[in-house]
Amino acid sequence: MTASSPITQDVLTIPRKEDASLGKLNLVGMTRDQLRDALIAAGTPEKQAKMRVGQVWQWIYQKGVRDFADMTNLSKDYRALLDQHFEIRVPEVVSRQISEDGTRKYLVRIAGGHEVEIVYIPEEDRGTLCVSSQVGCTLTCSFCHTGTQKLVRNLTAGEIVGQIMVARDDLGEWPEPGRHPKNETRLLSNIVLMGMGEPLYNFDAVRDAMKIAMDGEGISLSRRRITLSTSGVVPEIARAGAEIGCMLAISFHATTDEVRDKLVPINRKWNIEELLAALKEYPKLSNSERITFEYVMLDGVNDSDEDAYRLIKLIEGIPAKINLIPFNEWPGAPYKRSSNNRIRRFADIIYKAGYASPIRTPRGEDIMAACGQLKSETERARKSKAEIAREAGL
Ligand code: SAH
Ligand code: SF4
Repeated sequence: MTASSPITQDVLTIPRKEDASLGKLNLVGMTRDQLRDALIAAGTPEKQAKMRVGQVWQWIYQKGVRDFADMTNLSKDYRALLDQHFEIRVPEVVSRQISEDGTRKYLVRIAGGHEVEIVYIPEEDRGTLCVSSQVGCTLTCSFCHTGTQKLVRNLTAGEIVGQIMVARDDLGEWPEPGRHPKNETRLLSNIVLMGMGEPLYNFDAVRDAMKIAMDGEGISLSRRRITLSTSGVVPEIARAGAEIGCMLAISFHATTDEVRDKLVPINRKWNIEELLAALKEYPKLSNSERITFEYVMLDGVNDSDEDAYRLIKLIEGIPAKINLIPFNEWPGAPYKRSSNNRIRRFADIIYKAGYASPIRTPRGEDIMAACGQLKSETERARKSKAEIAREAGL
């Protein structure tokens, strides 16, 4: 780790490529407008289009149906028409691991043979799905495992929303025919965009996918139950507020530009001052919509009392919650986790200044599912760049 290491690594960025198997268009991930256009292009009379969009949408996102033949409120002919042109495809589950603490990690395969990880974290009062937005990440935060993965490709909206559908499949959380599970406690109640990738470097797909997740006729999650985490892509923050409107988390991690330059190199492009200015403008800011500051605790690097006091000064005027993340180790990581006493002391200083300062309990460490540990084993171990490029048809 040096201050002169590049902000972005020398990655092979594969353009996203829809592999339309059998020439069929995948309906998953289309916005309502896109779905409408697609249905009309396939021969749906314009007059019926709005109704058809609603029907198909409900089957896909509310009932979890994958086969047009099961869409029983549509005529046989119309079902056949849909089947001729379209498919309902979600990422393919390659493996599922369940941690001692109940955390589940899925490795899924997407078009081109690429793989991403999804993590499901059950808690007493909620179930959170940690979703990926890219294969790998072009940024090079020095404490993050994902940032060392050499291959990067943006996920499509369908691949992002498909991760939610895969988890619902596994949790069995689709309504059973004939039942109306309106008030059942949801196993999957929250989404965090905290998996692999920088969501604000894949803005459009992330926005479209989250719009689908929030749509009341389908997955129907409130925008307050969706949190987007960014390392600080300053020019996109206001847009995220305006166009997605979900909760925001910032990977802050340091209290001086000198240290943040090293930990989160995007800081050299947009420094702490610029970042804080953008956060102050985040349009949805109010006491009930605090911004979460994520702060990874690295032994001897960013965990002193002075850091805690500086942090309090910096965030003054921003309704904030500080989420302290004990560093999760990965093979070859250049840092150590701060001691429990140090983390508690740091939390205490912040708490006394009037901010919630929860210490995030690492979940799923035994299956490498904790924050910053994600990196598809397969991309790293088995494939060379040339192999991956060949598979992607480049
Ligand atoms: N790219 C986005 C979202 C994914 S990272 C971002 O950086 O915000 C999710 C969170 O885990 C971020 O706050 C990230 O900084 C943190 N993280 C990364 N590596 C970690 C590690 N090894 N231990 C603990 N947290 C880590
Ligand atoms: Fe990318 Fe986030 Fe990891 Fe930084 S912390 S390398 S932005 S995934």
